[in-house]
Amino acid sequence: MSRSAALFDRAQAVLPGGVNSPVRAFRAVGGTPFFVASAAGARLTDVDGRTYVDYVCSWGPLILGHAPPAVLAAIRDAAARGWTYGAPSGAEVELAELVRRRMPAVEMVRFVNSGTEATMAAVRVARAATRRDLILKFDGCYHGHGDGFLVKAGSGVATLGLPDSPGVPAGVAGLTLSVPFNDVAAVEEVFQRRGADLAAVIVEPFVGNVGFIPPEPQFHPTLRRLCDRHGALLIFDEVMTGFRVAPGGAQERIGIRPDLTTLGKIIGGGMPVGAYGGRGDLMRLVAPAGPVYQAGTLAGNPVAMAAGLATLAATATPDFYEALERRTARLVAGIADAARRRQVPMTVGHAGSMWGVYLAPGPVRNYAEAKATDTTLFASWHRAALARGVFLPPSAFEAAFVSSAHTDADIDFTIEQLDAALGEARAR
Ligand SMILES: *Cc1c(COP(=O)(O)O)cnc(C)c1O
Repeated sequence: MSRSAALFDRAQAVLPGGVNSPVRAFRAVGGTPFFVASAAGARLTDVDGRTYVDYVCSWGPLILGHAPPAVLAAIRDAAARGWTYGAPSGAEVELAELVRRRMPAVEMVRFVNSGTEATMAAVRVARAATRRDLILKFDGCYHGHGDGFLVKAGSGVATLGLPDSPGVPAGVAGLTLSVPFNDVAAVEEVFQRRGADLAAVIVEPFVGNVGFIPPEPQFHPTLRRLCDRHGALLIFDEVMTGFRVAPGGAQERIGIRPDLTTLGKIIGGGMPVGAYGGRGDLMRLVAPAGPVYQAGTLAGNPVAMAAGLATLAATATPDFYEALERRTARLVAGIADAARRRQVPMTVGHAGSMWGVYLAPGPVRNYAEAKATDTTLFASWHRAALARGVFLPPSAFEAAFVSSAHTDADIDFTIEQLDAALGEARAR
């Protein structure tokens, strides 16, 4: 038995499903997960000594790859000065100022420990500011595991949501409406019927949690216009896209100014950090400046702030993003070429270094269309790729990432291995 398999056996007895986050268990692609011994640059090494070119990148935070020297030095330096104070430190102010420079719509910010916390608090602020209770989200968009987000659409467009997990009260789910992403007509209908009750629209500006889905050109401008007309707030959940798809996130890339923004992943450079921020008048509602309660024992942790500062410093120039986007475009084009040669229907896409592949002719514009793609073939392809040393996200419904540690040689190797793996998968 491999060391990974032995660890997974032990893990099953003490961790639900053997993991601390469901997708890590590989259930969507079959097989069992490898356990990591170490990571450096673009590569993970497992406890059996096998090495993988990593396109999961910790699900988004690692835009510089694993253990980049500048971030490692910042973490060491910060930790040597103590790793939590229960009192403010200068790094919190520096990171807040840096975020505001990169994302001018984030006039004020509050640091928390995860993306989940950030979205829950942003919705609380929106409800407090508007004195309304309903929120609108989009099918398949993920905003963390807060009760109000684990909701599936009711039977009609403007009907209230139903719990999508046991343990979510129907009364909580009923405060969330959900319609298809990219569906302007459905959004217009919701606003027409419920516009006066909507506190906020929350959206992943580029969807990354059902695979990669870009917005159609009129989608976000419509959200902005309808929110303004009906007095609802627009929340961009940029936990994944923030500092990923452009220096100033998706809001810069598509030219839309949201009222509130949620951040996570890259902002902590791989340490546990989330943040929510936006218009000053809204953020001044947050305690202790205002009455909306939200707090955190480890919030603004000095080691996490140092990792975030070092990561943002290393990604400060448009050149950084252009180089990363070019490399990602080459990878995605190479994969698409391989699929064409092998006559496997495939849709590929990317924004900056966030990318995704669907095994279907496409286009894939929303959750329902993503669900209809070939997940069985994806699972075989994933297994074959893993055996060849390429780690793709272990689910057809997750975006992938390229980091600045991925070299041109890594990209060439990956295209070659994914091509061969596609042939093997189809032969099964
Ligand atoms: C990852 C993610 C979250 C949740 O963040 P956690 O840190 O896992 O709680 C929320 N929204 C989006 C868009 C995400 O990608």
